[in-house]
Amino acid sequence: MTTVFFAAGAHQWAKYEPHLGAALSRAGVTADIVTEAPDPAAIDYIVFAPGGLIEDFSPFVNTRAVLSLWAGVERVVGNTTLTQPLCRMVDPGLEKGMIEYVTGHALRHHLGMDRFITATAPHWDQKQPPLAQNRKVAVLGLGELGAACAHALARIGFDVHGWSRSPKTLEGLTTASGPDGLDAVLKGAEIVVLLLPDTPATENVLNDRALAQLAPGAAIINPGRGPLIDEGALLDALDSGQVGHATMDVFRQEPLPPDHPFWHHPNVTVTPHIAAWTRPDTASGVVAENVRRGEAGAPFLHLVDRVTGY
Ligand code: NAP
Repeated sequence: MTTVFFAAGAHQWAKYEPHLGAALSRAGVTADIVTEAPDPAAIDYIVFAPGGLIEDFSPFVNTRAVLSLWAGVERVVGNTTLTQPLCRMVDPGLEKGMIEYVTGHALRHHLGMDRFITATAPHWDQKQPPLAQNRKVAVLGLGELGAACAHALARIGFDVHGWSRSPKTLEGLTTASGPDGLDAVLKGAEIVVLLLPDTPATENVLNDRALAQLAPGAAIINPGRGPLIDEGALLDALDSGQVGHATMDVFRQEPLPPDHPFWHHPNVTVTPHIAAWTRPDTASGVVAENVRRGEAGAPFLHLVDRVTGY
């Protein structure tokens, strides 16, 4: 019998209980799912989320893998007690949600919808947006979520330029990589989507220098992580008009403190870290597949590289 410790907390268990056992059965795994671990040495797999039941992984000496329910692992990857393999969440439901968030907000800015939605007086202004093919969009991060969003934006017709750490060839997209490739992707971009992980190498990737490369009045969409943006530089760019609007889903401190300038800035839209949620039904299948692999001696899916931090 395989023992799976659901350590993501009671709040998450209420959502996962209807799905996880069934997913493990479907994967052909006979498992005992526990929500407490009085004997850590008896635990084969840990299902993890930040703010859950575990901060010290060292007593779990026989645990074969820690399976994160979150795609972003910056809150656990540097935990020095974690010596077990760490897998992050790559969930089809999460990906679909992110595509909807990113394309929705990109189209809002592309079509200039705000001027009609917020109009308070008659104003017959027939200014047309360009076609999407004439709008350069930069997507920073071409992983599971970034690539999916970049392809969705390209299918709408946008001129999509993507950036990653390692070189990539993706049909329908212009790509660049590494520090040297960033300027080419940002130069003249009118919409920027951030889908990078939070690592030491990505902090403040959108700084004053990077913001200056954009087309004047560009829109920023950040469902990645708060530290990707130098907040002071963004506020300056918003005030100067270099950035026309920022749609921010993630922040250095969450919940975003009530006195934070983003809440009150007329050209910032704050969404409360809701861009894409891990869906318990689909995510349970991902967890179960990794347990199945661990039991079969097969390589785990979505292993986190502890050196790069994602
Ligand atoms: P992923 O598959 O790990 O992809 C990360 C991408 O970022 C890869 O393309 C990677 O390049 C690139 N990258 C990493 N470090 C870089 C660097 N120093 N320079 C240039 N590119 C770099 O991650 P994902 O699943 O797409 O998720 C991306 C992020 O979305 C997560 O880390 C999380 O922070 C965020 N997220 C937010 C929400 C929300 O609701 N707001 C939900 C889920 C996830 P390579 O391809 O070369 O490795």
